[in-house]
Amino acid sequence: MMQQESRTLADVLEYAAVFHGQVELVSRRVEDGRLHRYNYAQALQRTRQLARALRGWGVKPGDRIATMAWNTHRHFEAWYAITGLGAICHTVNPRLFDTQLEFILNHAQDLLLLVDLSFLPIVERLRSKLPCLKAVVVLSDEACMPATDRPDVLCYESWIGGETDEVDWPRLEPDTPSSLCYTSGTTGNPKGVLYTHRSNLLHADVVNNSGVFGISCADSVLMAVPMFHANSWGLAYSCPMAGAKLIMPGAQLDGESIFELLDEHQVSFSAGVPTVWSNLLQSLRGTDRKLPCLREVVTGGSAVPRWMIETFDREYGVRLVHAWGMTEMSPTGTSSRLKTYMQSWSYERQLEMRVKQGHPVYGVAMKIVDDNGSQLPHDGASMGRLLVKGPWVVRRYFREDHDCVDADGWLDTGDIATIDPHGFMQITDRAKDLIKSGGEWISSVELENLAAGHPAVKLAAVIGVASEKWGERPLLVVEAERQASVTAEEILDGLRGKVAKWWLPDAVAFVDEIPLTATGKINKRLLRQQFRDRRPTADKESTVP
Ligand code: AMP
Repeated sequence: MMQQESRTLADVLEYAAVFHGQVELVSRRVEDGRLHRYNYAQALQRTRQLARALRGWGVKPGDRIATMAWNTHRHFEAWYAITGLGAICHTVNPRLFDTQLEFILNHAQDLLLLVDLSFLPIVERLRSKLPCLKAVVVLSDEACMPATDRPDVLCYESWIGGETDEVDWPRLEPDTPSSLCYTSGTTGNPKGVLYTHRSNLLHADVVNNSGVFGISCADSVLMAVPMFHANSWGLAYSCPMAGAKLIMPGAQLDGESIFELLDEHQVSFSAGVPTVWSNLLQSLRGTDRKLPCLREVVTGGSAVPRWMIETFDREYGVRLVHAWGMTEMSPTGTSSRLKTYMQSWSYERQLEMRVKQGHPVYGVAMKIVDDNGSQLPHDGASMGRLLVKGPWVVRRYFREDHDCVDADGWLDTGDIATIDPHGFMQITDRAKDLIKSGGEWISSVELENLAAGHPAVKLAAVIGVASEKWGERPLLVVEAERQASVTAEEILDGLRGKVAKWWLPDAVAFVDEIPLTATGKINKRLLRQQFRDRRPTADKESTVP
């Protein structure tokens, strides 16, 4: 008989501090862009100080503490201190629009908000609308603190500075909630996915497998996926678990800054959305700079273009691995790695497989079904709704009163996919018609509603068009009222100020008639086909129909 020991997330850092204590964590400071360097032993010490400061503020198990922050050492400390106390670390995505942020922070009833200097203007705009929020902790030292006489605005370094590092972490049940991440991937209000210690530990363990990230203590890892989106793909846990060197890019995700970190810290592994890698490739183009230490990059969040895999292969000798997942899955679901018998295939044939989203990682059950719920064959051609289940897949959204899975526990991902005889899944469409730009969602419905508000617009449809840089960019397709005269600029003016700037469609295309389905809904599939070859441009069309 074996022991019934369970582990908490705090145990991960305690382990790293004892057995990989001298391994470095490097992070780019938000204040001045300089690098902050320390090791796992020191990270634990400061995490414990923070835990004491949080306790001093009366933080109890189950309380929600929000962070709105880049990937930095302070954010890393916050993840471990908050969850270590049994409280819930709510990572807030600062790229969301104000109304969504207000909804999320109030829905989660966050007591404290730990925020980077870059996001203070957001907090200033929203502060009076957040009745639960008791204090704001600025992730900064005194020297960089903005002038304020508010007693409820604290300086992180001073706050934890006076604390000792003596903490008795509570023993927590494995299913204790640890972290909360809202997904804007559906229409309507964002929904909260509440991870637990168990789900996070299992997921982090699995992504460290060689079939997924394959990280070990021999690796130097650049965490280019933000900690405020989709649980940073588990990396903030899996790196200390493996004893890997961890590099956090702060606010600077541009190609030059990413290259600097890859080069200076001999990064061997990294993960991030395709936009980060297209920025990197762009900044390397035309130079003789190479990436000799980088063995592998995992990318996902939106489909990876074939050219990107080929460029990394041919020009830099770096393996780019395609993966798929979602916030609801902690987020890892699949990864696209070639099997033994595929090693002898031609490069072209291998590429065919590598552009697919890949096979599920062990622990995730996956199937495709038709509209009646009947399972479809793994023939690479049958297209169906993609369903998943597993121990790190959501069952019920935070503060909802019903499960979001069917009676057998299957979650409908909203993606439409095929699965081939090799077990490789490929996303072919999105049931939820959202647009993913730079790794973030843009709601087509919201843009359509606003555009349709213009009196000269009869019908508006927003679709994503492929963008080399952003993955997708929104294109607004407009059917104007007959006789009406309207320009693209006039329509876009109606959207400005009502949505985040980066949501604004790159272009407006006027058509005589927007195609409708049999049930009178806009036929986006047809529209996407029609504009398949369209590439986003900065210049707006100003056609008057
Ligand atoms: P999020 O919860 O924001 O990470 O979004 C999850 C959704 O992003 C999935 O349901 C997919 O629609 C999309 N997605 C994630 N990874 C990929 C990928 N590799 N290829 C295509 N779409 C993806």
